[in-house]
Amino acid sequence: MAYDNDNIFAKILRGEIPNATVYEDESVLAFNDIAPKTPVHVLVIPKRPYVDMDDFSVNGAPEEIGNFFAKVGEIARSLGLHEGGYRVVSNNGANAGQIVPHFHVHIMGGQKIREGSMARGME
Ligand code: AMP
Repeated sequence: MAYDNDNIFAKILRGEIPNATVYEDESVLAFNDIAPKTPVHVLVIPKRPYVDMDDFSVNGAPEEIGNFFAKVGEIARSLGLHEGGYRVVSNNGANAGQIVPHFHVHIMGGQKIREGSMARGME
């Protein structure tokens, strides 16, 4: 699937849509989910255009992939989530119900998450 430059996270990266930034550096942006499912619900995205986890894992450089997931852990820790625990989820494609076609991971925490529930499983 080709990357869609008009997806909502691409617009956020271009500054066309506001976001509540939690962390930003040259390669990564983290911001609060607009419809949080848990008390802390942050999305982390690479700034480079990848459609989904599959695209990122196939086409991202190993250093880029390693750096991204290290940042996910650092961001979770900076939010204090390492104390009580947290969940990291990435919905990939139709079967997972991925809505926004720019690769992202959800960091969810701040409460006990029901066993087996996924990113939208708090419903
Ligand atoms: P998914 O693609 O299924 O992993 O989920 C996309 C996530 O993006 C959902 O949790 C939405 O609430 C969230 N979302 C959609 N638009 C925005 C936005 N403008 N700012 C922050 N989060 C958003």
